[in-house]
Amino acid sequence: MARSITLHPEHGVNPTLGICFWCRGETGEIGLLGMNRGKEAKRHTILNYEPCPKCVSQWEQGVVFVECHESAQFDGHAPIARDRYPSGRYMVLDRAAVPRVVQPEQMANDVLRAGKAYIEPRAFNLLMEWMPEEDSDADRD
Ligand SMILES: [Zn+2]
Repeated sequence: MARSITLHPEHGVNPTLGICFWCRGETGEIGLLGMNRGKEAKRHTILNYEPCPKCVSQWEQGVVFVECHESAQFDGHAPIARDRYPSGRYMVLDRAAVPRVVQPEQMANDVLRAGKAYIEPRAFNLLMEWMPEEDSDADRD
């Protein structure tokens, strides 16, 4: 990340309000985009993949499964981990359910230890079908 901001000639530090990638709620962060390819900053911008406090409290209810593609899906789509590009969809599973959906046991233990897993869209869709409707924390749209 650059250590200085190139000011926009008209909009200066060109501020934007950070929003959570996961729930689109405001995070309280302020981004200073500066030159921003010559454009005025949007009022709201996703600045990073850090879940906001509201999402963190939801994620802490169990183990979070994050749907990720293996390649960028749009211009500027940053990876959350090596070759993992989050779609924005996630679900929180009760820890007791993890050994039933993640095999072998060693991998289930790794997922439980990490508290999260990045999974491909096909596996994510299978999990969605498997989840009882009323327990689904899969969100958005
Ligand atoms: Zn959030």
